[in-house]
Amino acid sequence: MKVLGFESSCDETGVALVEVPAPGQGGVPRLLAQALHSQIAMHQAYGGVVPELASRDHIRRVLPLTREVLQAANLSLDEVDLIAYTQGPGLAGALLVGAGVAVSLAAALDKPTLGIHHLEGHLLSPFLSADAPEFPFVALLVSGGHTQLMRVDEVGQYEILGETIDDAAGEAFDKSAKLLGLPYPGGPHLSRLAEQGDAAAFELPRPLLHSGKPDFSFAGLKTAVLTQVKKLGESPSEQQRADLAAATQAAIVEVLVKKSLLALKETGLKRLVVAGGVGANRRLREQLNQACAKRGVRVHYPELSLCTDNGAMIAMAAALRVQRGLAQVQPPGGGFSVRPRWPLGAA
Ligand code: ATP
Ligand code: MG
Ligand code: FE
Repeated sequence: MKVLGFESSCDETGVALVEVPAPGQGGVPRLLAQALHSQIAMHQAYGGVVPELASRDHIRRVLPLTREVLQAANLSLDEVDLIAYTQGPGLAGALLVGAGVAVSLAAALDKPTLGIHHLEGHLLSPFLSADAPEFPFVALLVSGGHTQLMRVDEVGQYEILGETIDDAAGEAFDKSAKLLGLPYPGGPHLSRLAEQGDAAAFELPRPLLHSGKPDFSFAGLKTAVLTQVKKLGESPSEQQRADLAAATQAAIVEVLVKKSLLALKETGLKRLVVAGGVGANRRLREQLNQACAKRGVRVHYPELSLCTDNGAMIAMAAALRVQRGLAQVQPPGGGFSVRPRWPLGAA
């Protein structure tokens, strides 16, 4: 069975095709082709995502990307069995584009559709890598909008152990980067600048580090970075900026590592899956690998290119659901809705 997946929850238009082995055949779903267009360059001038521009660009990109994917997989639309799309959470207008295209295509082709939770896509993205995890595992989901630790027993069985009470880790990276005068989205830029810096040059808070619970808070860190930026005045040196970037990254990473270890200890599990854009951060990977190796915990990451939003993770999540008989597909020709706010527990 072949699943065509669409992602359009924010500023990436992603399309992908995944093949699911027939029931009883064994094996794992396989990515046949994928295509992605990032709108980062378009939004950069505004320092953040402009929702209306995002929706319009998804409209422009989605069909050419779909053609590209079909061509790369050497398949025609008739050969697709199910069309999956990101139903939420995300920007309402952006979600409506992917959902509208998916449901209309499905109606024209007489195929069923399946709405997928965006975070489930992130969470299951390591299943696209050669070293896929086994269930159960602890998941650290660190993206632009979310920071959560979860216990994952199977596809569809997600128990939130703790989450951020204010900003997400990606947001902490992006907002601090902005204060340092770096372009949007600042996470990767801040991380690059930090390579030249000394994290010990600035003392920054690690909010909730000792709360004893797998919860997070990053709003105070951003305020502390702002205070330091103000102290540095109009024209800080390149070294000062690099030092502050390194200190910021070290603070975020230390909290993420400590809380992940706490969740692993609480659950007694020996597998950790890291997903979401911040999972691409090199220092986070180094520190997690080190801390987990000491404790006999295996860490799984998505491919670097699949940490941020993409269509492959949506097609894959749909494929894994189908394979397990968990997919409540919608017959062709019905209406559809998107869920801009949608807690993962309710997926
Ligand atoms: P959500 O999935 O919660 O709706 P999102 O889709 O915007 O949010 P992702 O695409 O998963 O989030 O990730 C984007 C975030 O990842 C941004 O905040 C970005 O700065 C951050 N990010 C990407 N690469 C890195 C990196 N190397 N270091 C730190 N942060 C990074
Ligand atoms: Mg994005
Ligand atoms: Fe995302």
